[in-house]
Amino acid sequence: MKDSLQRFVFEHAPIRGEIVHLDATWRAVLEHHDYPPALRAVLGEMMAAAALLAATLKFDGTLIMQIQGSGPVRLLVVECTSEHHMRATAKWSGAQVSGALRDLVGAGKLVITLVSDSGRQSYQGVVELEGAGIAGILEHYMQTSEQLATRLWLACDTSQAAGLLLQKLPQRAETDTDDWQRALHLASTLTGHELLELAAPQILHRLYHEEDIRVFTPRPVSFRCSCTRERVTAMLRMLGHDEVKSILNERGTIDVNCEFCNRKYQFDRVDAEQVFAAEHPLHAGATRH
Ligand SMILES: [Zn+2]
Repeated sequence: MKDSLQRFVFEHAPIRGEIVHLDATWRAVLEHHDYPPALRAVLGEMMAAAALLAATLKFDGTLIMQIQGSGPVRLLVVECTSEHHMRATAKWSGAQVSGALRDLVGAGKLVITLVSDSGRQSYQGVVELEGAGIAGILEHYMQTSEQLATRLWLACDTSQAAGLLLQKLPQRAETDTDDWQRALHLASTLTGHELLELAAPQILHRLYHEEDIRVFTPRPVSFRCSCTRERVTAMLRMLGHDEVKSILNERGTIDVNCEFCNRKYQFDRVDAEQVFAAEHPLHAGATRH
């Protein structure tokens, strides 16, 4: 099954939906870290949820979905760009990574950030973790931050992650309750197995063959890490010349691993001097004379 997002709308009710399937995209995330099974299950659902949420937004940039925890799992991060390029990672410690989401992260926060293509943060929403699982937490977030009634169904295994989103559009709030309830009821008959195994058109037929549904062209989703040597260079500049020199004196080289894709960036003494020389070309020129 291809990695894709499938948008659909109800023709006669203010309800829209998205279905996501992540196949190679999810496996690329799993290849980069050996996640404990309980953490993997949560991260896969979060991947599907982030893709669904990004698909409902009109923006050019990156949606960053973070769960900041106080348990054995300190951080879960999933990013999805408006081009539907995704990456994800998690930080955890110890062997006690088991159980449901709350056992993993303890008390914590969901943080949703939008960063524009120019790198500027354009929006940030923070809520306490309320609701059951990733779907419940996101539904709570959408209700409190966006005032949008949204329901999510998420599933993942070791090779794929998938999700279904339904969202009630704000207009005609009084008259559409029955349509919304029927759409939710039908969606809730979908099993996790069906969500993973059926293609989006099959899911829509299985749930809504009696409804008038408009289906849009599917959009591809893929894993892509945005890390570059230029970005690592910018990070070293922020660290400062003295700190960089002190690391070089201690270790001989500066080695930076991208936590999303494991790519290794190495800077030796000459590279490091260039990082700072490029920042102060006049100063560097002056010292040569
Ligand atoms: Zn990377």
